[in-house]
Amino acid sequence: MARSEAYEVIVVGGGIAGCFAAATAAAEGAEVVQLERKPAEQGGFIACGDAIKSPRDPSRYPGPIDMDAIASDEAVQADGNIDQIEWWDEELDVRKVIPYDKHSNVIDRYEFGQRLLDQTTELGVTQHFDTVVNDVIQNGSVNGVEAICEGDPVTYSGDVVIDTAGAQSVIQDMVDFESLDAPGGVSFEKPHFTHFGSAYREIIETDEPVEYQNSIVGKPLEEMGYVWYFPRSPTSVNVGLGFQMNKDPIPLADRLGEDLDGRPEYEGAKVAERFDKKNKLGAAIALRRPLDSMVAPGYLTAGGSAGTTHPITGKGIRGAAISGFSAGKTAAGAVADGDVSEQRLWEHNTYLYLDHGEGAKLAARDAYNVAASSIDISVLRAMAAVLPENEIREIVSTDTAFDDLTSKLSILAGAGKNLLTHYLSGTFDHLDVSNSELYEALDGFRKTRVFVDRYEELYERYPASREGYFDWLEERNRLDTAFYEAIDLAEENRKY
Ligand SMILES: Cc1cc2nc3c(=O)[nH]c(=O)nc-3n(C[C@H](O)[C@H](O)[C@H](O)COP(=O)(O)OP(=O)(O)OC[C@H]3O[C@@H](n4cnc5c(N)ncnc54)[C@H](O)[C@@H]3O)c2cc1C
Repeated sequence: MARSEAYEVIVVGGGIAGCFAAATAAAEGAEVVQLERKPAEQGGFIACGDAIKSPRDPSRYPGPIDMDAIASDEAVQADGNIDQIEWWDEELDVRKVIPYDKHSNVIDRYEFGQRLLDQTTELGVTQHFDTVVNDVIQNGSVNGVEAICEGDPVTYSGDVVIDTAGAQSVIQDMVDFESLDAPGGVSFEKPHFTHFGSAYREIIETDEPVEYQNSIVGKPLEEMGYVWYFPRSPTSVNVGLGFQMNKDPIPLADRLGEDLDGRPEYEGAKVAERFDKKNKLGAAIALRRPLDSMVAPGYLTAGGSAGTTHPITGKGIRGAAISGFSAGKTAAGAVADGDVSEQRLWEHNTYLYLDHGEGAKLAARDAYNVAASSIDISVLRAMAAVLPENEIREIVSTDTAFDDLTSKLSILAGAGKNLLTHYLSGTFDHLDVSNSELYEALDGFRKTRVFVDRYEELYERYPASREGYFDWLEERNRLDTAFYEAIDLAEENRKY
């Protein structure tokens, strides 16, 4: 017979979104339990490239977690001097350098995760480790979970469940959304497997300092992905790679080994150890826009499981934190009001899409991801070679400093110059990319840019209450179709 425990808010997952959600809900006065399947000493040991943007900026990390204290901790802060992204296409002799406005950071994700968990418990959250959630309890509203806690079955009941179980969350599969009580049907959007990527990384220790210790480096990978080298220190580098799941799978560890074998700085290098094992980890990543609606009666989701992250542009951690905060705050408010209906929990959607706006930015820029996934990697490489640094920056960043006319003209001039250089050096012949393929891709990219603006405008009108949602969704779906048609996107690449 399962033991029973009762709380107001149940948070599934001890990652970033889970800690931000649990800490915020507790700080707002709710009685919170956080359930994590790993043992306490391994909490926070999660596959990551370890690159984190603006950890000290409170608007990026809202809520009671003291990020300044965590980011200043020497064990966490591996490399705080990253000031540029480098894009290498060595075969084409291309090396693009894109400076950051502010310094970026590479951290030790495990130490970071441990500090987050510590602060969360200090804020009054009960944490149960070694606890695997394996079912959901629902009765018109989600009001609990079943779990195995340190080998024993436990029933956790609560007013609200926050699902922060990561990109591969199974909690969403356990909830029967259709049978929850919501007038006109539940709004929650269930993701599809093609909305994800698979990524893998190792921590490599080199004998000599690497020359790119102030840069994070990316390189093209067949099948729409990239290889990265993110230095944690001059002689310790987080190296990894990933691909999108709508493409053929790549044996990630072997492919990474192949890449490293060809590089002199990794000759004789060793894989670091953690918990007496080689420090190698892989996981799924969400490569989609945030879910159209992240709530259902008694249920909210945040982080990877809500698609509110964008790992490709270094916003995997930040996106999880912002949405975790939002879910925790909304859940605590709803519990205090005694109302956990979908309408009451809607605040979580509106925070991300309207009040903070991070969700809207991610959703609009996902158009680049959709467009890119339909373009052959050789053509993409040719495009990356042609586009000037500031245009690439516009695509990979949400800080757009390039919208004025002078910037646009300089982008055009830069593109023309690069195009000429690559024509003269035969880059496109080498990649077997024809003029018309390149032209079409660049034209598709130009059109995508226009649609990014249209998506942004549409998300600014995200419904402030559940009532307008289904009409808004119809309009958004029409915009998806218009976008797909404008860029001539084949049926199989239409993502949503
Ligand atoms: C290889 C790789 C490299 C990446 N690189 C970067 C990067 O450089 N920068 C960046 O910003 N982002 C990066 N990301 C993405 C980033 O790691 C994620 O966006 C982020 O971890 C999402 O946080 P989360 O809290 O939503 O989920 P997670 O961090 O995945 O946490 C989910 C937690 O839930 C627990 N859990 C799952 N199921 C259950 C269950 N049934 N019961 C109990 N507990 C459960 C898990 O054990 C885990 O602790 C990378 C991801 C990968 C895989």
